[in-house]
Amino acid sequence: RAKEAGKGVYAVYDRGMHTEFNERVVIEKHLRSALDNEEFELFYQPQVDLLTGAISGFEALIRWNSPVLGFVSPLSFIKIAEDSRLIIPIGEWVLRKACHFMSGLCQQKNNCYKIAVNISVIQLLQDDFIETVLNVLSESGISPGCLELEITETVFIESFERIVGKLEYLKMQGIRIALDDFGTGYSSLSYLQQLPITTLKMDKAFIDPLSDDSYSQSFIRTMVSLGHEMGLEVVAEGVEDSSQLVILEEAGCDKVQGYLFSRPLSQRNTQELMRRHKLD
Ligand code: C2E
Ligand code: MG
Ligand code: MG
Ligand code: MG
Repeated sequence: RAKEAGKGVYAVYDRGMHTEFNERVVIEKHLRSALDNEEFELFYQPQVDLLTGAISGFEALIRWNSPVLGFVSPLSFIKIAEDSRLIIPIGEWVLRKACHFMSGLCQQKNNCYKIAVNISVIQLLQDDFIETVLNVLSESGISPGCLELEITETVFIESFERIVGKLEYLKMQGIRIALDDFGTGYSSLSYLQQLPITTLKMDKAFIDPLSDDSYSQSFIRTMVSLGHEMGLEVVAEGVEDSSQLVILEEAGCDKVQGYLFSRPLSQRNTQELMRRHKLD
């Protein structure tokens, strides 16, 4: 075909398409057995409370070490897991694992830490999603206020009515709901007001330019005020250096998460960190 068209670009384009397609097929194939083969692991990234300076919670982040493909980033496999619906059992595993781990940690430290879990729209649309969440809570023994479900704005674009009702119910049970990657989606401000959420998680894209751009600094201050005006907790993600931190503190941001404090840690390293971590 490339020869017919007389242009090399077509051949390159075609090959690119095939490669991407094959990669998806290969990833999906190996994803199918990954859960049974115990190839997933959860990492935990601390969130620091800017008022106390102490760790107040963690975000659970999935890691996949495939014996065939090696380490595969969630950025490469979550979408495929969603399209193949494998995200349903995988997501349930994440939720259960994270809640049980946090339950143990809270008991050990005699303190309540928040555990934030990323939830896909595919999971939310399941008829038994609420039941699953409530079951995991009672099994693990953590209180609803310790669990935060992280969702993105796309969730509302896909199926507003069905999802708002479910989240409203979960929020009424005391479970926290964070709007993840806030600012990167398409929601208008009027839309934001209708969402049953407790937390705004400002995307890293707004944090990155903070140290050398005064426009982005006033932008952040406005986002934080807006969140507080709406009664929400405001969290910054992807905080990498101390000059960003200073600006976030001045802006009144509640919590920060990022490489400045810690990368996501294995379960063992999280336990090790917490053994050393003193309560104020
Ligand atoms: P996210 O939920 O927005 O998670 C934040 C991502 O930023 C994580 O990437 C984290 O490792 C990374 N990060 C945190 N601090 C910094 C920093 O200071 N600098 C930089 N450069 N990066 C930082 P990760 O773990 O690769 O996850 C990527 C995305 O994959 C997540 O974005 C989330 O959308 C998705 N994901 C991860 N785990 C799960 C899961 O269990 N379920 C679902 N549905 N999605 C997940
Ligand atoms: Mg997240
Ligand atoms: Mg995020
Ligand atoms: Mg993100």
